Amino acid sequence: MTPVAPSAEGLVDRYGRVARGLRVSLTDKCNLRCTYCMPAEGLPWLAGPDLLTDAEIVRLVRVAVGRLGVTEVRFTGGEPLIRPGLAGIVAEVAALRPRPRICLTTNGIGLDRVASGLRAAGVDRVNVSLDTLDPERFRQLTRRSQLDAVLAGLAGAASAGLTPVKINTVLMRGVNDDEAPALLRFALDHGYQLRFIEQMPLDAQHGWDRSRMVTAEEILAALATTFDLSPDPAVRGAAPAETWLVDGGPARVGVIASVTQAFCGDCDRTRLTADGQVRSCLFATEESDLRGALRAGADDDELARRWRAAMWGKRAGHGIDDPTFLQPARPMSAIGG
Ligand code: SAM
Ligand code: SF4
Repeated sequence: MTPVAPSAEGLVDRYGRVARGLRVSLTDKCNLRCTYCMPAEGLPWLAGPDLLTDAEIVRLVRVAVGRLGVTEVRFTGGEPLIRPGLAGIVAEVAALRPRPRICLTTNGIGLDRVASGLRAAGVDRVNVSLDTLDPERFRQLTRRSQLDAVLAGLAGAASAGLTPVKINTVLMRGVNDDEAPALLRFALDHGYQLRFIEQMPLDAQHGWDRSRMVTAEEILAALATTFDLSPDPAVRGAAPAETWLVDGGPARVGVIASVTQAFCGDCDRTRLTADGQVRSCLFATEESDLRGALRAGADDDELARRWRAAMWGKRAGHGIDDPTFLQPARPMSAIGG
């Protein structure tokens, strides 16, 4: 059935969910090649004219914030720090009213050099991805020798006040799944908040294998060999991570069990790709073209209407367990993770 745009304000869907968090991919390019994300040779990148310009991104975020009830904007990619206009985009988004919370998901390379500028521009918080503390493993996992740069990026983010600094970790069987306690110890020692993410079928190479995925249950069991974990009494809301108090708290660790304990029923996300397509879900197989409408002269009302229609069609869940599940054509790096 063709989705029908609701008359309601805001990004509601047929299941009563309301999207208030917007993830904006600023580029599909990256300076790492994480094996669970991209092939060694990279991908056919989006062509320059297909990318939204800085002004087009700001315009669409303004529509989302001003007309559609979005309260948090997270810039991601690909690697958002390699987009030249990042600080300018952030500054313009920070000037919107009501001002959204502004976050960044990054691999951390070069973050030490730009963290205070980004903070001044309006970034409130960062998530830095780090899967291993071992330099050789880092090189194998990301195909680049950049562990020191990521560690410097983490430290730079903390000293610039982009706190709490969160770390995202994906564990892979036989690669880094023995490092869960060491990564948590590192995070605790530095005051970073660690969250493990179950690996999802979003790699460009389509090499994901459910039977090899390290599950949330296994991650918690590995942590329990070294730490005492107890359920976090804080309300989870739409947060993807289930959190646990470590050794009685106040430190916490999070586990995002996107596959084994899907939280789709509480999802409050909408996504905009670097080429201006709205996606209602990471796993959506359909997109809604806002760039075409914008470049054809659509006004803000029309853009908002299209965005609402796209979200109205959001599916109930990602369906990874359905026999008919199809991995989306775009990999994570091109959707915006
Ligand atoms: N380059 C930035 C980074 O790595 O943080 C932002 C984009 S990256 C696609 C966003 C997050 O997605 C990272 O934390 C990364 O580890 C995660 N990610 C990438 N591929 C994934 C997969 N197949 N399953 C689970 N998480 C994945
Ligand atoms: Fe780049 Fe992030 Fe993908 Fe790694 S996970 S290749 S850092 S986009």
